[in-house]
Amino acid sequence: MPRARASATPSNATSAPESAAPTAALDQALATLHGVGPARAAAFAAVGLRTVRDLLLHLPHKFTALPHPQPIARLAAGTDAAVVGRVTRIVPSRRRQGATRIDVDDASGSLALVFFHQPHVGSAFTRGAFVYALGRVGERDGKRFLAVGTYEFVAAGDSGRPAAALPIYALPDAVPPRLHRRLVRDLAGRLAPLLDDWRTTTPLQADELIPLGRAIAAIHGCADEAELAAARRRLAYDEFVHHLRPLVAARAQVERSTKPDVVRVTDDEFERLRGALPFALTRAQRRVLDEVFADLARSTPMHRLLHGDVGSGKTAIALLAAAAVVRAGHQAALLAPTALLADQHARTAQRILTSLHVPCATLTAATSARERKALHARLSAGEPLLLIGTHALLVERVALPRLRLAVVDEQHRFGVVQRGRLRAKAAAVDLLVMSATPIPRTLALAVFGDLEVSALDELPPGRSPVATQVRERSELKAVADDIRAVARSGGRVFVVCPLVAQSEQQDLIAAETLANKLTTYFKGQPRVGLAHGRRKPEDNAAALAAFQSGAVPVLVATLVVEVGVDVPEATLMVVVDAARFGLAALHQLRGRVGRGMRASRCILVAKDGKPESRERLDVLVDEHDGLVIAQKDLEVRGPGQIAGSRQHGVLDFGFADLARDVDLLARAQQDLRRLLEATDARAIEQALRASPSALRTRVAATATVGPG
Ligand code: ADP
Ligand code: MG
Repeated sequence: MPRARASATPSNATSAPESAAPTAALDQALATLHGVGPARAAAFAAVGLRTVRDLLLHLPHKFTALPHPQPIARLAAGTDAAVVGRVTRIVPSRRRQGATRIDVDDASGSLALVFFHQPHVGSAFTRGAFVYALGRVGERDGKRFLAVGTYEFVAAGDSGRPAAALPIYALPDAVPPRLHRRLVRDLAGRLAPLLDDWRTTTPLQADELIPLGRAIAAIHGCADEAELAAARRRLAYDEFVHHLRPLVAARAQVERSTKPDVVRVTDDEFERLRGALPFALTRAQRRVLDEVFADLARSTPMHRLLHGDVGSGKTAIALLAAAAVVRAGHQAALLAPTALLADQHARTAQRILTSLHVPCATLTAATSARERKALHARLSAGEPLLLIGTHALLVERVALPRLRLAVVDEQHRFGVVQRGRLRAKAAAVDLLVMSATPIPRTLALAVFGDLEVSALDELPPGRSPVATQVRERSELKAVADDIRAVARSGGRVFVVCPLVAQSEQQDLIAAETLANKLTTYFKGQPRVGLAHGRRKPEDNAAALAAFQSGAVPVLVATLVVEVGVDVPEATLMVVVDAARFGLAALHQLRGRVGRGMRASRCILVAKDGKPESRERLDVLVDEHDGLVIAQKDLEVRGPGQIAGSRQHGVLDFGFADLARDVDLLARAQQDLRRLLEATDARAIEQALRASPSALRTRVAATATVGPG
């Protein structure tokens, strides 16, 4: 375990002569290593680790920072601290569960290191050895001691820490972390530099990224801070390459395919389409429509992401693109994440598209069997029309023989997997994916790297920012009075709750409870409606229609209204237990109001006396730019919250940080594109086999391993 010992016995760890056959040393079976043996080798093999190479590529999942040691005389009881001392006395534990005590001293004084629940730890120590120990300083009978959490032996006379950080690995139970660390540190120092770097065998330009082997050696713990930082960058880059490979390959595939026919929108036609809208297009909408129409006229299929702030007018883009396609004699589909939204799109489409003679049909879970059958007949006969439905249409067996354009609305609910399914189902179809909120550049690349991007970076005229305030639960009565006043003066009020029904575990206000309470408090006037995911779609649709018409001006709902719901008369949004939601989701909710000309407000209700959550919510009081808010969410809560944790953990990076590593992500994408031009996807996949990310995926698929 002491470093000195480890480096004195390298030949025990591997018997192959390294210089002669470096790869032989890397391919050596783990069972042949000193300290492993058949049982531990089997435990390693069970999680997919068989050779020295595997062990080197199996990277730590986190690090414990090692602080610089302090002189023993200066330790303060009650703090966490590190010391380096020379062992003077070893007092083994007398009972099985007792504490082991190791006395050490340095130039300033002496100290007892105390190890709890490690009855055999004493045998690792010899008098005169130098040890770095990290733990909590305690005091007993006026004497200080260190309750040790982590220790490492250091070279005699060394007074610094052994490394900037200690790597922590996921390991099988049968493998003691300390044994693993010794093995891997020894192997890494000698053999990691021999690992192939897939980058050097490809025509990529040389840059400041360090070679893979050097990065791996550094990560396993033989490095200073600067080297560790360089290693992290290299490994983050590799993670991005690994993650982006299928996306970039999909993109290349799209670019190689050809559509059976294209749709050209003439200037006259553009004017006619535009004339059907009840408003003038914003400059941004015009620009995006130009991009979309250019794609429709191109022989390679469109695969485009449209993102823009809440209320920037994405629906108009979808409807005009669909109208152009249907008027040219093809079929189009518009897919929404919820039935509620599909119905709303159908109503908007009806209003706008009738004058353009574009027939629309709706297909959701609420569609009756008879209507469904009739519709299927029309669709399979190739009748040109716009089909509006939920994402479920993708898995249903709906024949759309003349499908030319598919628009997927509110993509946050629609992950990489579904996109692949859609691509498989409709390979040469033009695809327009619309995101509910603006997307930070890294996320756009990481999640939508297979799509080209259009941004609606302008709101329609006349919008004023939604005045936002944070209140506490104790003020709910005043908020209820506010809701009543708005409803009485002809406005509409959304009230959003985190839960459907009350639960005992969670102290959160549920939609059903609140709707009842408000009804009682208002004594029936104004009326209060209810919409949530556990009600039948037709009940939700009816509640929304009554809300829209003003018959029931208060709607209590769960996140079913998060995306897309468009009721211009709504002027007040109340979110209860708002701290439960991410900032981007709250910005979405707030975007449900302020769509008409009337000034609108948003009230975020926080639990009483929770300053941390209030602070986070205060961001929304001052900030109205969705892109800035999404970036903040990315930094604070991580990518899963914005891209949807529904993304199956695909954005779980070990070393890469989406909020920080924009440059690396962009470089990974460029490099992959360049590689794909030079060679084929299969060859790249082959090359990447020798990367830690590939092994990580394999190990994760093999078994769950306990923390090391
Ligand atoms: P989102 O981008 O959030 O999907 P919508 O498409 O629902 O936004 O549009 C929000 C509101 O703005 C709708 O009521 C829509 O009719 C209106 N709108 C869209 N474009 C314009 C425009 N150019 N001028 C005025 N109002 C517009
Ligand atoms: Mg929308």
